[in-house]
Amino acid sequence: MRREEELAANLRDVRERIALACREAGREPGEVTLIAVTKTFPASDVRLLSGLGVVDVGENRDQEAAPKAASCADLPLVWHFVGALQTNKVRSVLEYAHVVHSVDRPRLVEALSREAVRRERDVTCLVQVSLDPPGSAGRSGVEPEDLLALADRVAAAPGLRLGGIMAVAPLGAPAAPAFERLAGYAEKVRSVHADAGIVSAGMSGDLKEAIACGATHVRIGTALLGGRRAIVG
Ligand SMILES: *Cc1c(COP(=O)(O)O)cnc(C)c1O
Repeated sequence: MRREEELAANLRDVRERIALACREAGREPGEVTLIAVTKTFPASDVRLLSGLGVVDVGENRDQEAAPKAASCADLPLVWHFVGALQTNKVRSVLEYAHVVHSVDRPRLVEALSREAVRRERDVTCLVQVSLDPPGSAGRSGVEPEDLLALADRVAAAPGLRLGGIMAVAPLGAPAAPAFERLAGYAEKVRSVHADAGIVSAGMSGDLKEAIACGATHVRIGTALLGGRRAIVG
């Protein structure tokens, strides 16, 4: 099958899964934005997805995302940076990213703010909150008890707009109860920052659970683009 047909079929399936999950949750499909996570896949796939009507694209590594975004600069895309972000990569990431999903520490807020001001632009930031049990290895995101303080910091930072929160389901544990906790965190942030309505949660394997718990943005890689090969380096 030609790649375009394959992507079109996958896109149809994913949109159907989103619509079904919305129906089951009593929500409108229009409330959920699909972000195509194109990491490890070539710019040509991004171009095909754009042709199929995809607007939102997600990447998690700057080395890969920067050249890909540059080669797709003629397309009407919104780039989401969803991976762990080192402060020394902020300058490069803000060259293309419209939304940063992975704000997890004060130093990163400062670096993003400085660069956004330098570029005279507003950058939408989501605070990533950890859903893993405390002390688990490789967890990313701020501890839930520190979420509000970090959200306040983003909201107060020049050049940054607090869009909402983001999370990844815990490894090796059921997604649904974790996403229920996430819904509570989202509500808490919204009670202080009424405009911070984004809840970025749900990947290929758990989009239904995420939508049931109020996700506004789902980040879909495998179900759209196929299996990824391990990346070296
Ligand atoms: C890779 C990735 C995704 C997409 O995961 P799939 O399971 O392939 O859909 C979503 N979010 C983040 C942060 C990712 O790194």
